[in-house]
Amino acid sequence: MSSATLTGACPECETELTVPPVVQGETLSCPECMLTLRVEDIADGLLTLEMVEVQLRDWGQ
Ligand SMILES: [Zn+2]
Repeated sequence: MSSATLTGACPECETELTVPPVVQGETLSCPECMLTLRVEDIADGLLTLEMVEVQLRDWGQ
């Protein structure tokens, strides 16, 4: 429990991201392509990131 930061690569632009500790299921945004990424898995300080399709809020029908 000593890792201060986690790293992962953006699946879209392959920018390497260094982030403070997050938990699985949390979302981040890539500073390069502004995509929203969800933490799918964390292993040995390495994040598996998946892009999240940003859905505009549905105002109801
Ligand atoms: Zn990116």
